[in-house]
Amino acid sequence: MADVNEMITLLKKEYPGVKIALHYSDPLELLIATILSAQCTDKQVNEVTKNLFKKYRTLQDYIKTPQEELEKDIYSTGFYRNKAKNIKELSKLLVNEFDSKVPDTMEALLTLPGVARKTANIVLSGAFGKIDGIAVDTHVKRIAFRLGLTANTNPEKIEKDLMKIIPKNDWDIFTLLLIHHGRKVCNARKPLCGECVLNKLCKSAFTLG
Ligand code: SF4
Repeated sequence: MADVNEMITLLKKEYPGVKIALHYSDPLELLIATILSAQCTDKQVNEVTKNLFKKYRTLQDYIKTPQEELEKDIYSTGFYRNKAKNIKELSKLLVNEFDSKVPDTMEALLTLPGVARKTANIVLSGAFGKIDGIAVDTHVKRIAFRLGLTANTNPEKIEKDLMKIIPKNDWDIFTLLLIHHGRKVCNARKPLCGECVLNKLCKSAFTLG
């Protein structure tokens, strides 16, 4: 297998100063933004949350607003019914079980409706500076497979594979680097292998066109 550390070094050089693209100012906003980002671009989520976070400032705002109204407010992020339902339910749970605070452990976050490891990893690192795993989104899933870093397609198994070979210091940045790389170069439909800094290390280079 190609050296994953070499890949990370090349990507860091290519995308210096990468950071999370979602806009948020506290753990609750990051949690909501991450839930909204499922099957939606970060840019679109930021458009929606610009107004959403002005209207919904506390958990009570999400709880008291009728589901249909919340659905309208998040409509353009897609899957709005399910997202609205999860947001309302998790708001109640946070009030009743977590002292109205977003918890800062993986175990607790995973008890919230609509929160799987990807979302929990993003919230833990972005809001609390805690690195417990590697967030596997659609870009990480696709590119890790293309690079030959995993043979799995299930996000939790991919995460385990990656955690074995990537130094813990880089768990956080690895996701951000692959998201950038996926948007700019290693596109889902037509990867630009000729322009890719990883093309000498990638097992799929020039085979997907
Ligand atoms: S060489 Fe091609 S397939 Fe491999 S990471 Fe780069 S763009 Fe993606």
